[in-house]
Amino acid sequence: MSDCIFCKIVNKEIDSEIVYENENILAFKDVEPQAPVHLLVIPKKHIESFMNFQEEDDELFAEIMVTLQKLAKDFELDRSGFRIVNNCGEEGGQTVNHVHFHLLGKRTLTWPPG
Ligand code: C5P
Repeated sequence: MSDCIFCKIVNKEIDSEIVYENENILAFKDVEPQAPVHLLVIPKKHIESFMNFQEEDDELFAEIMVTLQKLAKDFELDRSGFRIVNNCGEEGGQTVNHVHFHLLGKRTLTWPPG
């Protein structure tokens, strides 16, 4: 989608600190980190929100989960713990309408969220 900021990151029209990339997925550092490690994992394909994954995206969805697990290991979050967040829709706090999973770690995270 031409006016989507994350599609622009995928297409390298906007700079980002990429930490992992393959044919289907991109992972990059969040520009406003909320923890010492704060990554975003996105499908390259424009999917608006968590609720817009379709059956045809099953493999892609699984690949995103595997990537989150790999990055948790690569960034050494697996021993101390970490959090994966998907904000969905307006009340869920979603501000960018290209589905993304936050991977946060390297600090003690509190609950409940705000
Ligand atoms: O879940 P939500 O939609 O609120 O998250 C969007 C995230 O995208 C924010 O954490 C914001 O800092 C990040 N962002 C980014 N690079 C941009 C625009 C937004 O990392 N160019």
